[in-house]
Parts: sequence; C-alpha cells; structure tokens
Amino acid sequence: MRVRYAQRPFCYMALFACLLILLTASESLCDEPDVIVPAEPEAVLVFVGDVMLARNLPPHSPYNPEPLDHAYIFEPTAAILDVADIAFCNLESPISGRGKPLNKRYAFNAPPEAAKGLRIAGFDIVSLANNHCLDYGDVALEDTMTYLVSQGIHVAGICERAKPQVPVILEAHTIRVGYLAYMCPELYFGEVCKFSPGPALAMKERVVEDVRRLREHADIIVVSFHWGIEYTTRPTRAQQQLGRATIDAGAHIVAGHHPHVQQEPEQYAHGLILYSMGNFVFARYARPPARDTRIYRVTIKRGGIARAEYLPHRIVPDRWRPEPQSTRWKLVADSFTERKDAAMTSNHTFTAEGE
Ligand SMILES: [Zn+2]
Repeated sequence: MRVRYAQRPFCYMALFACLLILLTASESLCDEPDVIVPAEPEAVLVFVGDVMLARNLPPHSPYNPEPLDHAYIFEPTAAILDVADIAFCNLESPISGRGKPLNKRYAFNAPPEAAKGLRIAGFDIVSLANNHCLDYGDVALEDTMTYLVSQGIHVAGICERAKPQVPVILEAHTIRVGYLAYMCPELYFGEVCKFSPGPALAMKERVVEDVRRLREHADIIVVSFHWGIEYTTRPTRAQQQLGRATIDAGAHIVAGHHPHVQQEPEQYAHGLILYSMGNFVFARYARPPARDTRIYRVTIKRGGIARAEYLPHRIVPDRWRPEPQSTRWKLVADSFTERKDAAMTSNHTFTAEGE
C-alpha cells in the first residue's frame, strides 16, 4: 500500500508531464505554418480612359491654376494608380509645346511638364493611338514619345504606316503582360494621313494577327482601342464584333475609349471588354455625363483574369480632377474561364450593377 501511495503522485506527475509535452508539441505544431505551397502569382492592372492635359480655362477664370498643377489633379487617385502593378491610360494629346497645329477643330498640345505629371499620377503605359496624337504634327509626336520615355512611361500604338506595331511587354510578379493599341480607321483622315509614324489602325485582320503573334511572348494580352461614337453610351456593332474577335484571337482585356462617356463592360468568354471608360482627366468644359468616370482594376494570374472591379469617380467641376464617388469597389466579374476553349463555352453580356 505504501508503495501504491508513494507511486500515485509520481504517476500523476508523469501524466502531467506527458500532457504538458503533448500540449507544447501541439502548440508548436500549430505555430508552424502549414505546408508551404508557393502561391500563384497575381498582379493588378489598372485602366482609365482619356487623359487630356492640354486645355485650360480662360485666364480670367478663378479655376485656372497656371501652370496646370498635375500633382493637384492626380492627388485623389495617385494612391490607386501607384499601387497598381501597371497603370494604363489613353493620352489624348501630344506633350510638346512645339509644332504647328493641323487644320482641325480641336488641336491639343500639352506642355513638357505634363509627362512628369503622368509619372506623378502613377501611369506606367499610355496609348497614343488616337485622333489627337498628331495634332501638332510629327515634331510634337516625337517630343511626346521622348518626354514620356524620359519619365519611364511606356508608349503603345505608334508605328510606321502599314507596318505592324511593336508590342510593349511588361512584367509584373513574373507575369508577362503584352500591350497593343489601335485607333479605329474611321478616325484616320485628313492631314494626319501624311505622317508616318502615326497611330496603328484597327484593321481586324491586323489586330488578330498581332494578338496571335503576341501570345507566344506574353501570358496576358491587353488591347486598347480608340473607337466608337462620341457621347453614345451603347457600343456599336462594330465595337462589339472587333472586341470579341480580339478576345477570340487570344487577348484577355480590351480597353476602350473615345466616346467620352461610359459604356458598360462585357465579360466575353475568358476576356473582359471595357467598351468605353470615358474621360479621366479632360480639363474643363466637359458635359456632365462626360465627367462620370471609373478606375477599372483587373487582377490577373498567369492563366488569365482572376477578378475585375471598378471604382466610380467624377471629374468635379470646380476642381477639374477625378475624385472618388464611393469607397466600395464594384465587382464586374470574378469568374473567368481559361483561354483555350473559352470562346466556345461562355458568352454572355454582363451589366454592372447600378451606381
Ligand atoms: Zn478621341
């Protein structure tokens, strides 16, 4: 019996020690991270519409900061654009301050500081394939490209006439993103036609061939189009056909602009068609619907789009800069099929929820 009594505390102690060991072991096991599976890399691409930094209010206007204060204009949106891995816009004017205006109703020419403004804004790549890139002739177009490149901003959509454009391929978190940019041929007329290089033209066969070729060098393909009819909120049949053919050829994102107002996006197969993103910065005089704008945020993986969202913004009349109208990103879509068989299996129009 004595022995039994003597052994009992020892047994309890041993049991307690075992429990302690077990507990410690299980705790330390919990502390250990689970088996480390390398996460599939993701990158965030951002898209906005027309940026025009040339026009100012008349000098007597109280809203006319001279010179245009780019840091002020982009201050409310810089955080989003800067955080993005790649931020894109359509640059709707040359950046030069030199050259001779073409004989047209609206000819824009932003001062050289505008290039720095775009960098401060957070842009990484711009399209110049639009109906204003040659407003002040080839001298100003050359200046534009020089100023942009000097600020580390890539240029898409300019090429020698009748030659294919050289795509811009950028890398974000090991994902290769290829950019092509075109202007629709209907906007190619008048004096612009005498210049080369100039805007790449959106001939369907050319676009399809360029996209197919780019597929060998890029994981994700973005195609920008300057297209559609100004101030119309519905895409034309031509926009729809070209947009879809571009996705069918292997592109993932179509980024559209020129109508100056919003046209609702479409999820088509594995791709996303942003028919028109409206104006983003269009200094002064813009009509009310042309002041409603959006920042689109598209999260990508190597295999395709993971998610697409937008944040509504408005160009505020007394400040003439885009400011957020909500703190909540609105989901466009978060389910995209793989590219290969996509065009056959999924085909529906998505209407974004109302603001
Ligand atoms: Zn335009």
